[in-house]
Amino acid sequence: MSKQDYYEVLGVQKGASAQELKSAYRKKAMQYHPDKNPGDKVAEKKFKEVSEAYEVLSNDQKRAAYDQYGHSAFQGGAGGGAGSGGFGGFDGQGGFGGFSDIFENMFSDFANGGQSRQEASFRGDDLRYDLEITLKEAYIGVKQEVSLSKLTACDGCKGTGVADGKQPDQCGTCNGSGRVRMQQGFFMMERTCSTCQGAGKVIKNPCTSCRGRGHKKGTKKLQVSIPSGIESGVQIRLVGEGNAGTQGAQAGDLYVFVHIKPHDLFQRKGADLMCQVPISMVMAATGGSIEVPTIEGGRVTVKIPAGTQPGDKFRLKDKGMTIYRRSSRGDMYVQVSIEIPKNLTKEQKEILSQFNDSSKEEKNQPDSFNFFKKVKKFLDD
Ligand SMILES: [Zn+2]
Ligand SMILES: [Zn+2]
Repeated sequence: MSKQDYYEVLGVQKGASAQELKSAYRKKAMQYHPDKNPGDKVAEKKFKEVSEAYEVLSNDQKRAAYDQYGHSAFQGGAGGGAGSGGFGGFDGQGGFGGFSDIFENMFSDFANGGQSRQEASFRGDDLRYDLEITLKEAYIGVKQEVSLSKLTACDGCKGTGVADGKQPDQCGTCNGSGRVRMQQGFFMMERTCSTCQGAGKVIKNPCTSCRGRGHKKGTKKLQVSIPSGIESGVQIRLVGEGNAGTQGAQAGDLYVFVHIKPHDLFQRKGADLMCQVPISMVMAATGGSIEVPTIEGGRVTVKIPAGTQPGDKFRLKDKGMTIYRRSSRGDMYVQVSIEIPKNLTKEQKEILSQFNDSSKEEKNQPDSFNFFKKVKKFLDD
């Protein structure tokens, strides 16, 4: 069975505009709608054909494919209008659920004069605040006051948008449901209520201070609790501290992004802290002790053994960072660098020369002794 041309089905010219297609479809769909022709198989078949034709021609991509290839563009689709998949919902079984979207779009377009979509949601926006803290604050945990510019509930109406802070009235058009059912020819259609834009409520007497919005631009001071042991980059969510919602609707949330400033003395590695400490050449050679700072603000003595080398690390147990939601602490590592003396006087240089003359390489500088032994072996081989 060969299929009828989609344009013929709808009774329009090949170059018909979207508007022409739409009105032709409306007319035919109403004419053949099963509700109007109960038990009429011919009408039912016509109705399916009309709907299928419009489904294809109202879609720019499908229409272009159809214009170029005809029905073969949709091979495997709803053959002969009898329906075998292809276009979902066109098989006529279990009602005509597949059409509702097309109808909905068509008639809500008409209802709105083809423009302006309703606001998707009245909930307030989520906000982001970037908060910089010191490493010590992250160690202790602090309460930080932040000053935030955002939409806040209007004082004049307590956020309702209604003068004197009264509650909005129920929408008389939809009786508060936000949806209205309407008769369009033979169809019973449901769509968003245009009086209240789906909110179910209307404001007859808007608050003058916020012009009925229920919120105003303002500044709010907030206490943000930073838990001890917090890591850089963590977000703290404060529910309901984002922008106020429209007319008393739910407020958005505030996300505080925590950033930890680099510290002059400590580098954080997870729960551990590193501290780079320069020591003198003499202390490294002869040994001694140094005082190092700790993150909590105290001092700790670290023993430096004789013969300490650059980069040697000393662990101070439990002197690192606090750990979020744990009572234990990380460790602190003191890593020494050895500072070679600069700007020596003539006298100092002489002392060091004497020291050098007296030193035995194999015993005092085993690393360089071994290195040059290897060099000699390499060159001799
Ligand atoms: Zn107000
Ligand atoms: Zn309404």
